[in-house]
Amino acid sequence: MTPSVNSTKPSFAGEIMNVLHAVDGNPITTCMQCGTCSGTCPAAGFMDHTPRRLIAMINAGLKERVMSSNTCWYCASCYQCTVRCPRGIDIAELMYGLKRYSIWRKQHPEGLIGPVFSETFVKTILRSGRSYEPVLATSYLFTYGVQDFIQEAFTATELMLKGRIPLLPPRIKRLENFKRMIRRIVPIADA
Ligand code: SF4
Ligand code: SF4
Repeated sequence: MTPSVNSTKPSFAGEIMNVLHAVDGNPITTCMQCGTCSGTCPAAGFMDHTPRRLIAMINAGLKERVMSSNTCWYCASCYQCTVRCPRGIDIAELMYGLKRYSIWRKQHPEGLIGPVFSETFVKTILRSGRSYEPVLATSYLFTYGVQDFIQEAFTATELMLKGRIPLLPPRIKRLENFKRMIRRIVPIADA
């Protein structure tokens, strides 16, 4: 008998868990809302929703509120929450998953450096196979004041003169193979 195709659209929590399919942690639906992750998070004070609350919001299907939250963009990837979660949920990877999801869906809060920087980073490495600081810097430098901008420009010039930053972006061999691989992971179509 031919197996039936399940065309049911996954729930928001299901979509997020699909993004985390390769992560070695328990599903976020096993969260018992103990708050250990929030209590241990050094960045919680900058987040509009703590990690614990964000997980509750995902499980409740509050997609719009989750996607407009700054929480994942303020995650410092310290992994303290992950090692302390009594339910074995990889919360740090969840934050990465949310970033990927919001970039793919082009749904992220305005005025944050993180989304712009992440997208610029992917586009930069797609062009040459390597990160190139002068291009990356343009994604966030203008959000600072004139004084910081001038200071950063001086620092970059010094680094270039000392040969720490190349004048032109370096290029890897077999770039096309690399691009194909990255596009499978990060489907930024116009990159
Ligand atoms: S530490 Fe784990 S179980 Fe506790 S609230 Fe955070 S994610 Fe849920
Ligand atoms: S990995 Fe992110 S969410 Fe977890 S404790 Fe560190 S900063 Fe907070």
